[in-house]
Amino acid sequence: MKKFICKMCGKEFETTANHADYCSECRYERQKQRSRAYTAKKKSQSTFRSVGDTDICPQCGKAFMINSPSQKVCADCRKAYNNQRNRNSNNAYTERNYDKLSAFVKKGERDKLKAICQQHNISLNELINRGIALAFAELQEKDSD
Ligand SMILES: [Zn+2]
Ligand SMILES: [Zn+2]
Repeated sequence: MKKFICKMCGKEFETTANHADYCSECRYERQKQRSRAYTAKKKSQSTFRSVGDTDICPQCGKAFMINSPSQKVCADCRKAYNNQRNRNSNNAYTERNYDKLSAFVKKGERDKLKAICQQHNISLNELINRGIALAFAELQEKDSD
């Protein structure tokens, strides 16, 4: 057994090792700190990327330069990526607040309706909903006769 002075707490301790800087408690404490620091470092490396760094675009696999910390994909893929994200959140919103209804129309009618919608700058969905509202009003008027 050799006697050493712990570099951390200054306590005298004995060990069979040839060389030791820390007593057993402090060594354990240091190991914990080290692994905590290591975990924190790894974590920050994986979530934080700094502007100007190069990253690989998950969409196309191309290397690109990061222009903002939140940038996930390359400039070429950004538009499509954002659209996709918006669409996903829109879908979730729609699913939460609306029921889906499908209907049949005569062959070619759908394209005609779509063209009309485009002309008047409304969605086909809006057109159908307006149609439903009109039909509803008409039916209710009949009921009140
Ligand atoms: Zn110690
Ligand atoms: Zn890309």
